[in-house]
Amino acid sequence: MTLFVVATPIGNLEDLSPRARRVLGEVDLVVAEDTRRTRELLTHFSLSRPLFSLPAFAERDRVSPLVERLRSGQSLALVTDAGTPAVSDPGAKLVDAALDAGVAVVPIPGPSAAVAALSASGLDSSRFLFLGFLPRKGDARRAALGEVARSGVTAILYEAGNRTGETLADLSRALGPRRAAVARELTKVHEEVVRGPLPELAERFAAGARGEVVIVVEGGREPSPEAEALPPLDEAIRERLAAGEHVGDIAKALARDYRLPRQEVYARVLALKDASHPP
Ligand code: SAM
Repeated sequence: MTLFVVATPIGNLEDLSPRARRVLGEVDLVVAEDTRRTRELLTHFSLSRPLFSLPAFAERDRVSPLVERLRSGQSLALVTDAGTPAVSDPGAKLVDAALDAGVAVVPIPGPSAAVAALSASGLDSSRFLFLGFLPRKGDARRAALGEVARSGVTAILYEAGNRTGETLADLSRALGPRRAAVARELTKVHEEVVRGPLPELAERFAAGARGEVVIVVEGGREPSPEAEALPPLDEAIRERLAAGEHVGDIAKALARDYRLPRQEVYARVLALKDASHPP
């Protein structure tokens, strides 16, 4: 009664580890995000195991029969289409349910696009923030961009090729000329890692990118001890507005003090100014 969480290749099949191959050949059942994709993988490695489908949209409903099997003494391997399960992929609910049932959960580590991209990005990898896919629009997207802007550590984002241009443009607007890397089609024939300042990358990929992409972005500078002693940003803005300072001057001074992108502070100053003088 063990649930093995098995990482599979993100392109190059040579990246399936010998241990992953052995486990996939030994378990009672392979639980797969897409059984057709996983059948191809198993066939390539001359493995033949029963498969059970666990797509993201049905994960919650399909977990209980799997936990019953684990409880009854079976071993299961959980895989997704590519990379490490439960990392922007289905799997976390099954892992949770297995742990709740007192079942052993064992990782079989291997490829993950996020870590592969980070390792070749040339950016600081000592600490990082993994955000998966950014929300597509609205306040949620703005909030996530703000989180990257404020982060003092390297950020890693997943993106679909056709949305890469838009996301790089948004990042460039929110963060300015921070260094970044676009890692495309890793381990595949057309693999490339393009490094440069965000505005350059946004221009280069304005029409999108082919295939699968990870975007890695340099962290902002660490907040200084002085910055940590500062009052909340909104409070500082209100004080300066009350003193009659101009919006542009406030944005400039506070962007410097708080080490935030000037456009972001400017927008906040305008919002607070408008809120204090409703039409
Ligand atoms: N769980 C997977 C992992 O550990 O890498 C990630 C799955 S997520 C649904 C798919 C995203 O991962 C893609 O949109 C892309 O951002 C990234 N990705 C997957 N394979 C990739 C590759 N070969 N090269 C670059 N990015 C890849």
